[in-house]
Amino acid sequence: MICGLKKSVFIALNRLLGDQIQFEPLESLVRFRHSLLKYSLLVAVFSALCVAVMYDLGLHNTGYFHSRVNYVYSISSLALFIWIIRSPERYKQVALLLVSISMVVFTSALIFVVEDQFRIVWFYIVVFVAYMTLGNRAGIITSILSIIIILISDGVFELALTRSTLQGAIIGLVISSALASIHVLIVSDFEKKLISKNRELEVLATIDGLTGVVNKRMFSEMAEKYIETASRKNNPLSFLYLDLDHFKKINDEYGHHVGDTILIKFADVVRECLRKSDLLGRVGGEEFAVILFDADLNAAKLVAEKIRAAVEISGYQYENQRVQITTSIGMTKMASVTDTLESMQQRADQALYKAKASGRNRIEVL
Ligand code: GH3
Ligand code: MG
Ligand code: MG
Repeated sequence: MICGLKKSVFIALNRLLGDQIQFEPLESLVRFRHSLLKYSLLVAVFSALCVAVMYDLGLHNTGYFHSRVNYVYSISSLALFIWIIRSPERYKQVALLLVSISMVVFTSALIFVVEDQFRIVWFYIVVFVAYMTLGNRAGIITSILSIIIILISDGVFELALTRSTLQGAIIGLVISSALASIHVLIVSDFEKKLISKNRELEVLATIDGLTGVVNKRMFSEMAEKYIETASRKNNPLSFLYLDLDHFKKINDEYGHHVGDTILIKFADVVRECLRKSDLLGRVGGEEFAVILFDADLNAAKLVAEKIRAAVEISGYQYENQRVQITTSIGMTKMASVTDTLESMQQRADQALYKAKASGRNRIEVL
């Protein structure tokens, strides 16, 4: 019962904070910054309201002016909070506004709440928020501005702070700003490396390591898109299945490494016969599939024959012997706009079976 209640409170809180926004897995740091900004805004809303109300109740000697400033600060932070929830893409503007308003409010505290000996500490918080939400440049600017404001305020107004308090506060600001800056630099460098590594992994997961053409999963994904585009635009499209003939025999006779090299060469030869807009994928051990975009059956037959002949003459030189390779091709066209990848694959597979049964090194259409 208590557990269920906790869960509903948690869900309600998440809804309120807009945490249902979907971020890419790589964007965990962006998600952290968004959350940090939202929580900082909420802290500003409640702490400023608290300071203002405490003055009105006679519990804190904030001073009339600064307590009114805190009411404005609380309402502005609430407005920014609502804004960021409604338009998460306005993150930068909201963060900048929060940092700017906070600087003004903390300057007011510095000048008007003279009996608070620790009021410089608020500048440390705004510097931290600037570094974490906006990055290094904003953090450094906020630190420098804070120091300038503290020094000018001390010169112009009676801050009632001892020399050593002021010196200690400024040295502390410089040190914590430098540490935050190093931290942000390391984190952003780490983030950049992580993003580029993940991109590399994404590519590796879609490309066949041996031949460099797309793998079966990626081929299917891209083929679906090709088919969808062709049927939407009413463009012709053809599908080819290619299977090397007697490949097992080549492996057995010359070894697996020769088989591998032949597969690489075969993929290169096929690629040479295709246009940039066509799609070639390795869909099995020695089986490849091709989508010919914008090609009707007649055009596709020409391409298939070009591939068949190019493979036949390509061969492979191994220890002064020519290893002959040939390929059988089964092909089909997109019959109607309702034709699917699966049905085309089935027809091309049957056509390929026919090409094998009819003697190999040939093309069959279905
Ligand atoms: P068919 O003309 O009927 O297609 O005969 P085949 O020998 O090509 O067909 P089969 O399916 O019997 O054999 C395919 C062979 O392809 C068996 C397998 O060892 C080989 N093969 C699959 N993947 C690879 C690979 O990555 N490298 C190498 N070297 N051989 C592979
Ligand atoms: Mg096969
Ligand atoms: Mg084969």
